[in-house]
Amino acid sequence: MRPEVEQPIDSSATNDRFHARIVAWQRTHGRSQLPWQNTRDPYRVWLSEVMLQQTQVSTVLGYFERFLDRFPTVGALAAGSEDEVLGLWSGLGYYSRARNMHRCAQEIVERFGGEFPRTAAPLETLPGIGRSTAAAIAAFCFGERVAILDGNVKRVLTRVLGWGADLSQAKQVNALWDRATSLLPRADDPAAIASYTQGLMDLGATICLPRKPTCLLCPVNDACVALREGDPERFPVKTRKLKRSAQSLWLLHARDGEGRVWLEKRPATGIWAGLHALPLFESLDALIAAAGESTIRPITEEPVFRHVLTHKDLHLHPVVAMCATNSRPGEVGRWFTAAEWRKLGLPTPMRKLLEAAQGSPGAP
Ligand code: SF4
Repeated sequence: MRPEVEQPIDSSATNDRFHARIVAWQRTHGRSQLPWQNTRDPYRVWLSEVMLQQTQVSTVLGYFERFLDRFPTVGALAAGSEDEVLGLWSGLGYYSRARNMHRCAQEIVERFGGEFPRTAAPLETLPGIGRSTAAAIAAFCFGERVAILDGNVKRVLTRVLGWGADLSQAKQVNALWDRATSLLPRADDPAAIASYTQGLMDLGATICLPRKPTCLLCPVNDACVALREGDPERFPVKTRKLKRSAQSLWLLHARDGEGRVWLEKRPATGIWAGLHALPLFESLDALIAAAGESTIRPITEEPVFRHVLTHKDLHLHPVVAMCATNSRPGEVGRWFTAAEWRKLGLPTPMRKLLEAAQGSPGAP
């Protein structure tokens, strides 16, 4: 690994220029039309921050509006059922975000009387709110002087600073948090914190891209070490890669004579926790043993397909079984009509599978 390069943004005067340029750039060139911007409503900011983790803006837009229509306040979200929350989330993936949001809303009601805490420290004690999300809410809505460090901001700062330390090590991430804090607008300039925070996010999302950053348009290009060194894409440095594994699962796609589908609610932990799903088995034999007596025709094995999770590739083997009406092809679960399962939170590959079967010529 190359030694850590000298970091030139180190005097308070330079820091002033750095945050002033980010603030000025955000106010003239940053994003301002997204529905969660230009608001100090912590509920909207929180909702958008959670939805935008691992999901693109264009995808989030529709979900954000639908969520707000159904749950206009944190109290309404707290009072909703987990199934309905997961149903509205269906298709966004990473469902632990939705479950945590629901629990978080309930804690805000129970512990804080339905009002979001105004500083990052208590916000961080809530389910699903990490240090960066807590800081974003506190900075945008309440003007607290705290640093965010999401993926976009890490990329911008490590490049500007030429931060060559390995961010797969927690102590190096903590050091970068300290550095990010030292770059914040001064405490006597609270109006700047929201623009500065938004500016770093916007810079990372629109200019300082993972591949081929458009450095020509960057407001801090004259201070950027990575640009000066000629290889911005080298940053951030992260040597430890995620270890991936693979698993094969057999899906029991049981249908009855009325065209209903048998679904089970997944346990509260593990893969697709809390969602409704086709029953999963680790082998075809186990599936046949479970469903055998309910089937009225030979089962049909369908083509296997791959579904990619964060740490794992799933090789999914759908198996169609026509079952007698009112039979029970599983110990838990029940039959659902299409109108019913469309409202549920379902794993994305299963929703696609069911929609495809629904539209097929042989579907009842
Ligand atoms: S100059 Fe280029 S690499 Fe440096 S912060 Fe700006 S966009 Fe990123």
